[in-house]
Amino acid sequence: MLEDFLPQPRIAYFSMEIGLQAEIPTYSGGLGVLAGDTLRTAADLELPMVAVSLVSRRGYFRQTIDAQGRQVEQPDPWEPARFATPLEAKITVPCEGRRIWVGGWLYELQAHPGGRQPVVLLDTDLDENGAADREITHHLYGGDDAYRLKQEIVLGIGGVRMLQALGFEVSHYHMNEGHSALLTLELLRRNAYAPEDVRPGEQPYDVPRVREVCNFTTHTPVEAGHDKFSYDLVARVLGGYFDVAALKTFAGEDQLNMTRLALNLSDYVNGVARRHAETSRRLFPGYRVRAITNGVHPMAWTSPGFVRLYDQHLAGWCHEPELLARADRVPDDALWAAHAEAKGELIASVKERAGVALRPDVPILGFARRMTGYKRPDLLFSDLQRLKAIAARLPFQVVLAGKAHPRDEGGKRLIEALHAHVRELHGSIAVAYLQNYDMALARTLVAGVDVWLNTPLRPLEASGTSGMKAAFNGVPSLSVLDGWWIEGCIEGVTGWAVGEAEVSGNGDDAAALYRKLEDVVLPLYCRAPRREWIAVMKGAICKNASFFNSHRMMRRYVTEAYIR
Ligand SMILES: *Cc1c(COP(=O)(O)O)cnc(C)c1O
Repeated sequence: MLEDFLPQPRIAYFSMEIGLQAEIPTYSGGLGVLAGDTLRTAADLELPMVAVSLVSRRGYFRQTIDAQGRQVEQPDPWEPARFATPLEAKITVPCEGRRIWVGGWLYELQAHPGGRQPVVLLDTDLDENGAADREITHHLYGGDDAYRLKQEIVLGIGGVRMLQALGFEVSHYHMNEGHSALLTLELLRRNAYAPEDVRPGEQPYDVPRVREVCNFTTHTPVEAGHDKFSYDLVARVLGGYFDVAALKTFAGEDQLNMTRLALNLSDYVNGVARRHAETSRRLFPGYRVRAITNGVHPMAWTSPGFVRLYDQHLAGWCHEPELLARADRVPDDALWAAHAEAKGELIASVKERAGVALRPDVPILGFARRMTGYKRPDLLFSDLQRLKAIAARLPFQVVLAGKAHPRDEGGKRLIEALHAHVRELHGSIAVAYLQNYDMALARTLVAGVDVWLNTPLRPLEASGTSGMKAAFNGVPSLSVLDGWWIEGCIEGVTGWAVGEAEVSGNGDDAAALYRKLEDVVLPLYCRAPRREWIAVMKGAICKNASFFNSHRMMRRYVTEAYIR
């Protein structure tokens, strides 16, 4: 019931995507899963929040892969009425000189007994709108620049208006990435001085008042990754709503840069890992960018076997994941049995989905994430002869998954290349590529593999979160030192590093990966006493799951960003 959420002022969390549950395709990857974990933790901790996103009725896309290894994209529609209740309120947003009507849905995110959070999913598919406008909230990350700008108008401007129409009192606006930054324009308009009070040359807005209520979390460590729109487009779509000359003072002279807009109008700005905050400070000198390293939701990412194990030995762990620091007290055989259960589930799923038979006694390396250039999913396959030689001595298996954005040609070529490698390695190394990576598959994968692999090009992995999910399941990471892993890697204790931490040291990462696999990781699994491997599994839980969880992350957002 909407009324349950209205009495208390709430923190409004704006995100273009949000991973609520696997059946609801309103997310594409890490950013959306983080938004979902944020709200799941807010529900557990009973924090007063409300999330705002788009309904994305046609989803992101459903991935299949054809016989040549090419990604095929299909719509992934969902029926909001099955999961959410329609909201009565309707508002309008300005667009190309007309008004677009925006309605919405209330999804109630359930956590522990008592813990619930409202999620407002904005929807333009209304009779009041023309055919094209009805599709503005259909396709997550679809369409051209104009389509994207309209989506961001609905999210930012429409979101603020909708919360007000529904009766929410908002204490803070949290922008999860720059997509929602147009909300600051709506807030500026609401905090405009009377014209007779504005002295020539001064801003007609109470900028400090707006900054005070805005928080911004940036997620992208490269300039090109930030959303930008030409002012011609902005003038055409938003002219009459906000003076373009004034907008330039907040959002950049050449183009409307959503990151700059959010930076200029937020008092609290943070990156998603320490290294990422440093990179962001270099990218945007003059702004104070703090670091709140990401975390993942304990219950959402822990396999049933490990949930039972933690419940038995570390009662209270899912509210206070710090307790996992004591996971070294869990008996080795119980921990190994919980892992074997998760591995068995993965092996069954790989058989069913890809027809590949994996062995339970041979280690599985897992790699699954968005397929795109900087993530380098092909690094492991740089030298197939070398890889085969390693496997001949120290056998291992590989499971891969991931979608490429429909317009990311490089990412699609990587998927094709990976499929070619799978064929070339047939008979030497069992490699399976699972289609349509989503939250449900991620849960099976991060728990069922033995080693979680990540090989991004430094410093482009802002944080990365899938390795944190693995840690909750006692799965150590083997990863390039970037993003969260710079903080999470204790060599030989929580997992292993590939290459050096320095930004200049990307050159020999393939060689470093092969060396680490051949000399350290596989011998420890295949030759050392089992308890030595289990010690690393416990290191991942004790040192990393206890820290890289969304409960710690949200407690920091509360004490640093929301209450200040
Ligand atoms: C966790 C998750 C991601 C993010 O993985 P990274 O390692 O941060 O790239 C992407 N997609 C899905 C479905 C996930 O569950």
